[in-house]
Amino acid sequence: MNNGRICVSVCAETADKMLEQIERAEDLADVIEIRLDCLNESEIDSTLKKIDCKENYIFTYRPKNQGGRRELTLKEREDFWNSGYDFCGGDFEEDVVENHLYWLYHPVICSYHNFDGIPDHLTQIYERIKNANANIDVIKIAVQANDITDTIAVWKLLERMNAESESIKAKKLKEIEELEKKLNSSIPRPISFLQIIPIAMGEAGKWTRILGLAHGAFMTYASLETGKETASGQISAKDLIETYRVRELDAQTEIYGIIGNPVSHSLSPFMHNAAFKFHNLNAVYIPFEVKNLNEFLRRMVKPETREIDLNFKGFSVTIPHKQAIIEHLDFVDETAKAIGAVNTVKIIGGKFHGFNTDAEGFIEPLRNSYGDLRDAKIAVLGAGGAARACIYALKKEGANVCIFARNIEKAKILAKEFDVELKPLSTQHSALSTFDIVVNATPLGTKGKLENETPIFAEQIKSVKLVYDLVYNPFETQFLREAKSVGVPTIGGLAMLVSQAMEQFKIWTQFDVPMKEMSQAAFRRL
Ligand code: NAP
Repeated sequence: MNNGRICVSVCAETADKMLEQIERAEDLADVIEIRLDCLNESEIDSTLKKIDCKENYIFTYRPKNQGGRRELTLKEREDFWNSGYDFCGGDFEEDVVENHLYWLYHPVICSYHNFDGIPDHLTQIYERIKNANANIDVIKIAVQANDITDTIAVWKLLERMNAESESIKAKKLKEIEELEKKLNSSIPRPISFLQIIPIAMGEAGKWTRILGLAHGAFMTYASLETGKETASGQISAKDLIETYRVRELDAQTEIYGIIGNPVSHSLSPFMHNAAFKFHNLNAVYIPFEVKNLNEFLRRMVKPETREIDLNFKGFSVTIPHKQAIIEHLDFVDETAKAIGAVNTVKIIGGKFHGFNTDAEGFIEPLRNSYGDLRDAKIAVLGAGGAARACIYALKKEGANVCIFARNIEKAKILAKEFDVELKPLSTQHSALSTFDIVVNATPLGTKGKLENETPIFAEQIKSVKLVYDLVYNPFETQFLREAKSVGVPTIGGLAMLVSQAMEQFKIWTQFDVPMKEMSQAAFRRL
C-alpha cells in the first residue's frame, strides 16, 4: 500500500457533460482534475456556478502549448484565475503561478508540459519551479518519451525529490514557525511540503504512470475510461486500480513486463496481473515499449550498468526482440536454443535466463484437442518466428510437418533446419486435402487491414480433421469461419496465447497457475 492518489482527468465541452463526468469520476478517483480549458467559452460560467468545490477537485485552465484545448494568452489566464470564482485546488503553469492569488487554492500544483520530447535542461526546470516565489505544494512535470530510455531523466526527478524531501520539509516548517512568531498566531500546515508528479507521456512512458505512486509520486493521472484519455499513454482509472493495482504497489514490488514494439495491443498485462492478483503477490506486469533493446537493458535493467533501480524479475519478449535478446542472456534453455528465439526471461541473482514457451504454449491445446500427434500430417502455413516454434514442437511430438510459404527462398532455411517438406502457399491448390491438421502461422485474419483475409478457403480444408489459427484477435478469424462452414473443428489463437503465458507464470513463480483467471482476463480484454 502507498500514499499516492489516483487523479481522473475530466474534459468536456458543456457544463452538463462535465458534471456527468465528474459524477462518474467520483467513484474511482481520489482526486478529480477538471479541465476548464476543454469547455466551450459560453459554458465556463455556468459550469463553475454548478460545481460545489471539494477538497479533492483541481481546476486547470491550460493553454494549447501546455496541453490545453484552446489558445490562451498569459493575460487571459491571469484574468481568469483572478476573476473571483470559488475555485478549489488549482494547477497552474509556471508563468502564472507567481502572479495570482495562490493562497486561495489547495493544493497548488505548478506544472510543466513538453509534448516534443525530454528537454536537456529538465533538472533546471525542476529547480526553477521548486524555487519559484509561490506557495507550490506539488510540481508536475509531464514530458514526452519517444523511447523508453527517455524516461530515465523523468524518473531521476522523483529520486531527487525523495532525497530532498526531508530538507525541504524542515526548511518550510522553519519558515512557517518564523511567520507564526511574527504574526503571533498559528498558521495551518500545507497539505504537502512540496512533492512531485513525474510523468513520461507516450506509450514508452506508461510505466512511470504505473510505478510512480509506489516510489513516492504525489499522484498519477488516469482517464475516466479507455478511449477518454486526455494525454498520450494515459491508462484508465479502472485498469490502474484493478489490473495494475497501483495503490498496492511499493518499492519492493517485483516488476515483470513485456518488452517489444509495439506492445500497446498486448493482452499479457491482463493475464499476468490477474495471476499476480489471484495469489496476492507483490508483483506487477507492465508493457514496456522498447525500440532500442541494447540501450534499454544497459541503462535500465542490467545491475552493473543501469541508471535507475527498478526491481525487475522477468520479461516476456516479443517482436522484434525475440532473437536479439539472446546475446544479452547468461543462460538459454535447450528449447529456446533449438528454436532460436527467446520469449521469456527470468532474472535470478542478477543473471538473465532465457526460455521459449511458445512451443509448449502451441502444442498443449493441440494435444488436448487432437490427442497423440505421432505421425499426424500437419500443414503449417507461414514460415516466420511463430512457425519455427510450432514446427519444433510438432517434430518433437513425432508429427509429419510440411511448410506452406509464399516466399519459398526464405522458407528453405527453416525447412532445411528442421528437415521438413516445403511447398508454395496458394489459394488455388488442393494439396491440403491430405493433411490431418492445418495451422495458420501467418498474420492473415488479424484485426485491422488483414481482418477479412484468410490464407486458404473452406473448399481446401473440408477433408482435414482440425484447423488451428495462431491469430487471436479477433477471437474468431475468417480462417476459422471457413473451417466451421465445412464442419471442421477449430482451435483459435487465444488458446496458445493463454497457454504460453501460463508457462511463463510457472517459470517466474512457484505458484499454481490460475488458469481460469488468466484466460478470463484475456478473453474479457478481447
Ligand atoms: P512473422 O515472423 O512476421 O512471420 C509471418 C509469416 O507469415 C512469414 O512467413 C510471412 O511470410 C507470412 N506472411 C505474412 N503476410 C503474409 C501474407 N499476406 N500471405 C502469406 N504469408 C504471409 O510473424 P510471427 O511471429 O511468425 O507471427 C505470425 C502470426 O502468429 C501473427 O499473427 C501473430 O500474432 C501470431 N502469433 C500468435 C501467437 C499466440 O500466442 N496465439 C504467438 C505467436 C504468434 P514472409 O516471410 O514472406 O514475409
